[in-house]
Amino acid sequence: MAGKKLAVGIDFGATKIMAAAVDKKLNVLSRVKVRTHAENGPKETAERMAQLAREAIAEASVEKDAEIAYVGVGAPGPLNPREGVIVSAPNLGWKDVPLRKMLEKELGVPVVVDNDVNMGTYAEYVAGAAQGKQLVVGIFPGTGIGGGIVIDGKVIHGVSGAAGEVGHIIVDPSGALCGCGRRGCIETVASRLAIARDVAAAAIRGQAPYTMEKIGTNIAKMKSSDIADAIKNGDTVVEEIVRYAARMLGMAAADIVNILSPDCIVLGGGLVEAMKDIFMKEVARGIKDFGMPAISPYVEVVAAKLGDDAVAVGSAENARVFLGL
Ligand SMILES: [Zn+2]
Repeated sequence: MAGKKLAVGIDFGATKIMAAAVDKKLNVLSRVKVRTHAENGPKETAERMAQLAREAIAEASVEKDAEIAYVGVGAPGPLNPREGVIVSAPNLGWKDVPLRKMLEKELGVPVVVDNDVNMGTYAEYVAGAAQGKQLVVGIFPGTGIGGGIVIDGKVIHGVSGAAGEVGHIIVDPSGALCGCGRRGCIETVASRLAIARDVAAAAIRGQAPYTMEKIGTNIAKMKSSDIADAIKNGDTVVEEIVRYAARMLGMAAADIVNILSPDCIVLGGGLVEAMKDIFMKEVARGIKDFGMPAISPYVEVVAAKLGDDAVAVGSAENARVFLGL
């Protein structure tokens, strides 16, 4: 007798891959993780991902007889969500990888691939902080700044497939060099990397004694939780740096608000999780200060609820809708 069938959502990140078995009500029944090792190439990575999907199902099933119904993957972009092809992911070092086809061949079930931040935003819409909202913009400041847009329940991809790149709103054309090759994107001002850069400089100047002594000035190793820790331990200049960055993020968000007039902005990601009060307050203030008075009062800024589950949950539900199941 065939066992019951469950969806699997996969959060495919540059550092780790997380697979979750998800039921029809979007409850997460199991979570399994491995390190990504994208340098081993797409084929091996797809095999590891397929294996992880099987493990997620085995772990979720008491009788060990459940099967995979379909798989949704949230992957770094830019990608083509219709074909499930990763066009070029700088963080993975991949180009034109037909991930959907590769996984379908491995698993023998339908697979849908979409952008990870789109899926995180979509998850908040279907099961998290933005349920019941009409026009949702997700902003996720972490190592970079990701974004996603959901309108009337639909993820907006645009003609290129890569819509929603909130992090690359240019706020200063002569600003710092961005990962996208241009200068002065909001990501160069308000991402973890940008904040860590300013915090390290302040520590070197002698303005952040706790950071200097306990955390150090290695930008690559400075985590969001370290930055929060420095603020708690009295490095006031670090708090000023974070508040300024969050306010600037609010300024960039005001542009989006003016153009789309959303009813909900979802803030998530590592920085927000570590310093929720500062980010919620300063982004809301930035939107109020820089948004148009006729538009900005209609938007609510909420904190993401689903944390590490978001991309997997959103990917599973997106796959179900995409496949018409
Ligand atoms: Zn950029």
